[in-house]
Amino acid sequence: MKRVVEARTLKAKIECPYRWSTGRAIGSFLTELRDGRRIVGLRCDRCGKTIVPPQDYCIYCADELDEWVEVSDQGEVTTFTEVKMDFPNSPLEPPFAYIVVKLDGADTGLAHLARNPEGIVVGSRVRAVWKELREGSIRDIDYFELVK
Ligand SMILES: [Zn+2]
Repeated sequence: MKRVVEARTLKAKIECPYRWSTGRAIGSFLTELRDGRRIVGLRCDRCGKTIVPPQDYCIYCADELDEWVEVSDQGEVTTFTEVKMDFPNSPLEPPFAYIVVKLDGADTGLAHLARNPEGIVVGSRVRAVWKELREGSIRDIDYFELVK
């Protein structure tokens, strides 16, 4: 008797709703995005670096951080990858780019999105495009666009 090939995969959809505690640093960062329409970071007293998005401890020297500073909503692309094909739950309609932007006044990179990635290269100047209705999310900045 010929053996029947077994079914080896099943298609299914898994949903996983969750809550994540932002903690002090990211909670304050998100609140400033929502209420102040500004981007803030934490400056290190010991080494002088400004960390954006902020963390409780300096990523350079591990000192505790508590000096809040506002940084620009413009900066320079330090790396990026362009997305040309649509996929489920895509944050923007392609084409777009995932970018890391070093905002003016910051010493670290912020991961975000760029709409219309044509012309983006490492070193491109970009600025935040803000949503009018903000909710305390990194997507209160809708995306970044090239500064022309
Ligand atoms: Zn430091």
